[in-house]
Amino acid sequence: MNINENLTDIRQKIRIAVERSGRRVETVKIVAVTKTIPVENIQEAYQVGQKVFGENRVQEWQKKNILLPADCEWHLIGRLQTNKIKYLDSNVALIHSLDRFSLLEKLNAEGEKRQIIWKTLIQVNVAKDDAKAGLEVEEVNDFLETVRDYPYVQVLGLMTIGKFNACPEDTRGYFRKLREIRDALIRKDIRNKEELPHLSMGMSQDYELAVEEGATIVRIGSSIFGSRN
Ligand SMILES: *Cc1c(COP(=O)(O)O)cnc(C)c1O
Repeated sequence: MNINENLTDIRQKIRIAVERSGRRVETVKIVAVTKTIPVENIQEAYQVGQKVFGENRVQEWQKKNILLPADCEWHLIGRLQTNKIKYLDSNVALIHSLDRFSLLEKLNAEGEKRQIIWKTLIQVNVAKDDAKAGLEVEEVNDFLETVRDYPYVQVLGLMTIGKFNACPEDTRGYFRKLREIRDALIRKDIRNKEELPHLSMGMSQDYELAVEEGATIVRIGSSIFGSRN
């Protein structure tokens, strides 16, 4: 397992995919997903220039945040329990998994208390793989309207997880759907284009498809660090 080679390979594949989508390579950010990955391996990635990391668990993030250099950019990507919000701080660059009203309320309350405006993405259950995998497509409009009443939560775009073991055509369909949802929100003037810049979609299995369909953030774990199960 060579983390440097893996990252080089992934960056090359993204460069090719992004050209197919008619964008510049700087428009795609790689979040290296570090769940279950030891700190030494994360440091290795850091040393070859990967500074954006994603964790699922708040307590894991806390440990790693302390041990890694301060210029790392940390994203939270997993389902966020409301009783863990108190452990977050302004070192969390982006929360990918705003998926319910209770989380919006609690994030806002904690943000107000500590004067932090949380940057978030709304997780959308495009593939309907799992009842807990985000807001339903039909709920996104209203939810985003509601967010306006919560000034300590800023939504910068949408996130989705594909379906486990789906075929590439279906996966592409889910990613395209997420982009269309975002575009419709802009068309309906619920937000303007600059307010919803991000689509977080694509993991080790399917990040090239996601980039072709407009991903600005890909979340890649096992293709960088190897599979640990
Ligand atoms: C684990 C995880 C990833 C990365 O998955 P890989 O298949 O290892 O690339 C991405 N997003 C979320 C939400 C995850 O939990």
